[in-house]
Amino acid sequence: MKTTQNSSGDVRLTGIGKTYGSFTAVHPLDLTVPEGSFFALLGASGCGKTTTLRMIAGLEEPSQGAVSLGDQDVTHLPPYKRPVNTVFQSYALFPHLDIFENVAFGLRRRGLKSVKKQVDEMLDLVQLGEQARKKPHQLSGGQQQRVAVARALINHPKVLLLDEPLGALDLKLRRQMQLELKRIQTEVGITFIHVTHDQEEAMTMADTVAVMNGGRVEQLGSPADLYENPKTTFVANFLGTSNLIEAEVDSRSGEEIVLKAGDGKLVLPEARCAAPATTGGKVLVGIRPEKITLTHADDAGEIPVGRNRITGKIAATSFIGVSTQYVIDSSVCPDFEVYVQNIDRDARLVPGADVVLHWSPAHTFGLDAAQD
Ligand code: ATP
Repeated sequence: MKTTQNSSGDVRLTGIGKTYGSFTAVHPLDLTVPEGSFFALLGASGCGKTTTLRMIAGLEEPSQGAVSLGDQDVTHLPPYKRPVNTVFQSYALFPHLDIFENVAFGLRRRGLKSVKKQVDEMLDLVQLGEQARKKPHQLSGGQQQRVAVARALINHPKVLLLDEPLGALDLKLRRQMQLELKRIQTEVGITFIHVTHDQEEAMTMADTVAVMNGGRVEQLGSPADLYENPKTTFVANFLGTSNLIEAEVDSRSGEEIVLKAGDGKLVLPEARCAAPATTGGKVLVGIRPEKITLTHADDAGEIPVGRNRITGKIAATSFIGVSTQYVIDSSVCPDFEVYVQNIDRDARLVPGADVVLHWSPAHTFGLDAAQD
């Protein structure tokens, strides 16, 4: 994420906010979307992501703040004067026009006569060259959405805005279209800003994800960074599953924080702690389920020293394909979840078995226990 002077095509939001009467849909936010990136606004329904997108599109007047695109302040420009285009969940194709004419529409409206080369190129880009003479209703949902993308790209916008564009597709098609949109973005190289409530979708496609909550950007980062280093419990829980253990800070060395949880001791790297962590204070210690090793209590002596460890009892197991999910009863974390690859599975790990959960301190993160 750039914080310096706006380079040629970055989208920059400066203190932009939106209120409806006394209700604040988007609190003033500063955000820079680097030119050529695939950027996702991710959050639950009502968090303000569509309103933010619509302010970039010019479809919603901000209550405060500014939107600029490169060196151009576009805050008060109408949508059609901005070098952006939007793809909506409802494809909004013209039913009476064939696919070629749907894509050609933007060029014809500008008075261009010879459109064939450009339309053919665009149809090839979205892999619909063969379907040019069909009507929209003769295509599948995924194909119709690709026509909508081609139509939005034909006038070479600097930024393509996508508002839940895959929301109407079934899961399998949605997964295919995610990869397809990513390929198209890489090929055309323009900025895509994509709104979604689906964390897997944002993680699959985006270079940078802004996680929104209650009209604010809660955390901004690459998918891997958000997953590995969540800074709030909301982000930790919204992106995948987190086990959160309430622990008490015992000591700090400058590099590591040592915490007590029940009768156990946990070590957390200072750099991965987003909480104030005063000695004697509480921290939520987080660990992702797949980072944990599950060892039968009889073999506890074989666990290497230096690993964080918690004891518990297996409450339930369920087979989920390549791995098995275990739910563990532990005095420090209710419903501790652990995923174990089936090839590593120990036949003794059945409900009722006493176990030790252990993991590397390097995979541990710390969150503010006082946060709402
Ligand atoms: P969804 O995924 O359901 O579309 P969202 O995160 O995109 O949700 P927004 O559509 O941006 O959320 O809406 C944010 C908040 O602003 C919601 O509480 C919504 O009810 C409210 N809101 C949006 N538009 C208006 C409006 N025109 N008048 C009043 N409130 C509005």
